[in-house]
Amino acid sequence: MTGKTHLAAGALAGFALIRPQGGLNADTAAQLILCMAAASVGALIPDVDSKRSKARAKLFTAAAIVVSAFIIAFGAKIFFGVDVFALAMQNSAVVRTVPGAAMFAAAAIYGANTKHRTFTHSLLGLAVFTVSAALISLKAAPYFFAAMLSHILLDLLNRKKVALLYPSKRAFALDLCDSDGIVNDIVFSFGMVGCILYLAKVII
Ligand SMILES: [Zn+2]
Repeated sequence: MTGKTHLAAGALAGFALIRPQGGLNADTAAQLILCMAAASVGALIPDVDSKRSKARAKLFTAAAIVVSAFIIAFGAKIFFGVDVFALAMQNSAVVRTVPGAAMFAAAAIYGANTKHRTFTHSLLGLAVFTVSAALISLKAAPYFFAAMLSHILLDLLNRKKVALLYPSKRAFALDLCDSDGIVNDIVFSFGMVGCILYLAKVII
């Protein structure tokens, strides 16, 4: 699947974990912003193992989304009193955040040097990245996990096999579609419409 499809599906997977209470209030807004940032990274990180140029483009997109989320979070705090940072760091501590970030970076560098659809698309990779994310921010980790899991599941639909049980070489593919064909377009549309309907339901 393409990056935009993973992003849309990942955001929807993250939103599925948020049960808004009583419309759009400060708590829900903070959760939504944190979810979008964490889910974007989770949705794109597995493809750090794809061809260098593609991987760089996707990482650039992920970085741009995280920077945008930071700017939005700052704006939300200043103008609306919505504190995304406080939510992200709830029950977290620097003694865990720093090693978590180091572990995340090490896993990403290792993943960038493995074959496509191996470590970063495996259950082991999912566990390592999710534990790193949880060390960085306990509140963001579930959204990251849901989005990364959705990436791996969507890639399983394609012809190119996924080494789900890495380091075992056994690889799996449901062989239902191409990674950038009509099914990709349908999943993208479904994800986008789902996200828009979800946000509309929360806001209105
Ligand atoms: Zn992938």
